[in-house]
Amino acid sequence: MTGLNSNDADIYNVLGMERPRKSPGLLVLLAGLITTAAALLGVWVVGKVSDGEVNLLGFFLFFIFPVSAVAVGMVAASGYALVSWLRGIRVGIPMLVAIGTLTTGAYFAAQYIEYRAFDPVYEDGTPVSFWTYFDLLTRNYTFSIGRHSTGTPEPLGAWGYGLRALEVLGFGGGGIGALLILRAKSYCDDCQVYMARRTVGIIPAALPVRRIRKKDVEGQAAYQAENAARAAAAQAAVDQIRQHAAAGDGAALRRTLAPFPVRVKSALKLPMFLEVAMHRCPRCSVGKIEVRKVERGPKNEVRRTTLAALPLTGDAVAAFLDTDPAALTADTMAGA
Ligand SMILES: [Zn+2]
Repeated sequence: MTGLNSNDADIYNVLGMERPRKSPGLLVLLAGLITTAAALLGVWVVGKVSDGEVNLLGFFLFFIFPVSAVAVGMVAASGYALVSWLRGIRVGIPMLVAIGTLTTGAYFAAQYIEYRAFDPVYEDGTPVSFWTYFDLLTRNYTFSIGRHSTGTPEPLGAWGYGLRALEVLGFGGGGIGALLILRAKSYCDDCQVYMARRTVGIIPAALPVRRIRKKDVEGQAAYQAENAARAAAAQAAVDQIRQHAAAGDGAALRRTLAPFPVRVKSALKLPMFLEVAMHRCPRCSVGKIEVRKVERGPKNEVRRTTLAALPLTGDAVAAFLDTDPAALTADTMAGA
């Protein structure tokens, strides 16, 4: 046997055969259940070691956002995400629902296991039922602010259920969140693998922030005009990218991006720039070019908006990648 041995997937491309659908499969579920068990074990161990002082699931931001439960949920579901990614399995909505349910179920299973291990009994020796135990625990939730709480914290009573609900929601939601990250990745339906993504251009769309005195009206106007010119130039580049992508001209795309190399780090500090990325299927080379607007707010907060995601044929992607970027790169962006 020679030829088509190393990569069985290529057989389908070569023969033009329909590729069988990949199903989520046992491996994904198994990996997810293992990481879920590991995450819940971690929560239990920390609780045990700290004598119940530290509940890894119980850190809330502004009293209502169960940040730590979300984080632990993400760790718990990481096995589902990892194997889905490695095996090139597209995470569909039914899969998300199943994983959310499994993760939430695992939370209660862990509570039950803890109950069985603790095996609480009344004074006369009759066992305390699971729900009585769960209810007691929930009503005795307390809130402490910071590391040193003052006085004895009051049990929350019925409000404890609110916290419990947020904890469970955060945990299950975190699990789904881990998979949503994967869902955002580009996927080649034909080959059933995730595409690789590479940033291929950074286009400045604004001037660096410059302090100009209010009285300097001329200076202000000049700055604004220059800024507008920058934005217009960036827009022109996007228009060209759209045209070349529609025409399937990879070499022309490369030429358009030549003045905007990725390695000019100063562009990344601008209040606004465009990030151009190439997505490519590792098997059949089909891909897409994506343009995202990146804006930096006054508090350095970053907002990304997708302006375009344009499909490209395998040939266009290959032409783009084969064009020697070194020959085309002109460092016109120096000092941007
Ligand atoms: Zn493909």
